Amino acid sequence: MQNGKIDKIWELLNTVPDPEIPVISVVELGVIRDVQFTNNSFLILITPTYSGCPAVKTFQDDIKTCLLENGIENFELKIVYSPAWTTDWMNDATKEKLRKFGIAPPSNKVICPQCNSQNTTLISEFGSTACKSLFKCDDCLEPFDFFKCI
Ligand SMILES: [Zn+2]
Repeated sequence: MQNGKIDKIWELLNTVPDPEIPVISVVELGVIRDVQFTNNSFLILITPTYSGCPAVKTFQDDIKTCLLENGIENFELKIVYSPAWTTDWMNDATKEKLRKFGIAPPSNKVICPQCNSQNTTLISEFGSTACKSLFKCDDCLEPFDFFKCI
């Protein structure tokens, strides 16, 4: 019974997009650590990505809105800082979605998401958000965001 309810929460969370990268959900991003059911209430454990990332507040609000819209009111969000979030928590399917969206996924090598060239140059440590760096491809000349590896 309770496990079924917890699955339902995961399903709903999987529909909440990352505020900065709408093609991936907060579950795919790996920020939802666990969902528990205690004292008749769901406890959702969240580990923020980059510390101080302004998106943390946004996605907490988005999660609350999503659950409330689906008639779930007995829940609590709890931020857990340890273990720290890492890009390793993103699976390959998620990285592929990032690439298709035009963002180079976290990796040891910065590869152009447009033409797969490894011939790239860092333009700025900070791209459209603090979580990303701005690169330029030396082959197709397109600028692109690289999701920083941590
Ligand atoms: Zn390129």
